[in-house]
Amino acid sequence: MTTIAFIGLGNMGNPMAANLVKAGHQVHGFDLMPENLTVAREHGVTVMANALAAVKDADVVITMLPAGKHVLSVYEDIAPKAKKGALFIDSSTIDVESARKAHAISAKHGLLSIDAPVSGGTGGAAAGTLTFMAGGSGDAFAAAEPTLKPMAGRIVHCGGDGAGQAAKICNNMILGISMIGVAEAFVLAEKLGLSHQALFDVASTSSGQCWSLTTYCPVPGPVPTSPANRDYNPGFAAALMLKDLRLSQEAAQSAGAVTPLGAEAAQLYALFNAQGHGGTDFSGIINFLRGNPA
Ligand code: NAD
Repeated sequence: MTTIAFIGLGNMGNPMAANLVKAGHQVHGFDLMPENLTVAREHGVTVMANALAAVKDADVVITMLPAGKHVLSVYEDIAPKAKKGALFIDSSTIDVESARKAHAISAKHGLLSIDAPVSGGTGGAAAGTLTFMAGGSGDAFAAAEPTLKPMAGRIVHCGGDGAGQAAKICNNMILGISMIGVAEAFVLAEKLGLSHQALFDVASTSSGQCWSLTTYCPVPGPVPTSPANRDYNPGFAAALMLKDLRLSQEAAQSAGAVTPLGAEAAQLYALFNAQGHGGTDFSGIINFLRGNPA
């Protein structure tokens, strides 16, 4: 049994913490929102009065927070008070630069650290099947693996500090671009009088095949479990897709990478969000492309 501090018990953090409790760990949780603490308590998390109290006796500290500024401010507070040699795991999706700063804060206080963002959404968090993309030293990764296992379907060591965040935003840039591509193809097919099913049957077994088509098909029918069949209820909300596309564009700018389709995808999701669809599944972009937002 390990004592784990879990800070950030929102849509993702709460089910992740619940899986750690189920695996037999002592989980000390903290969140700013009292309603999230109530849920955590129901899952067997020991709710603490603040982040410092949660961290005090913890061997491992996991953060699952909205953005880089939250992670850095929490790290500045808790790293000086953490147990000597504790392991810090940040699973939030944040910019690569902040992730590297978080590693530096940890190192300054003699702590092991990895950035370990996830893919798989709230469903994967509840089922314990998240993919973790980890960045950090080999020692930190080896120390983190047993803690990540009860929450994970797959754990990949992507490289040094910040490599997990880099993998996450590159993957989600592919996802945003590919969803727009698939949605555009269905919109064109409609204009050409081609049925959704016919396009799906051909493209899903041809060179147009991709996850956005075969798992998350943006029209109802061909893939019964895709959000299009439930009025585009997320799933993966358009606001989170926009967040990740913006992170990829910031990273592209600071690294000097040319990503014109990533930039265009960010622009389209910004317009979709601005029309009030931040809570719509990101595959709902098809309705925006038809000129008939969901
Ligand atoms: P959320 O908003 O539901 O949860 C974030 C929690 O952090 C909130 O409960 C908030 O009160 C808490 N918080 C903020 N500042 C805090 C502080 N200083 N101390 C303690 N708690 C604090 O968000 P979420 O959906 O759980 O996402 C968390 C992270 O995971 C984000 O970085 C997101 O991009 C990433 N992510 C989300 C999904 C998803 O499908 N929801 C999928 C993959 C990755």
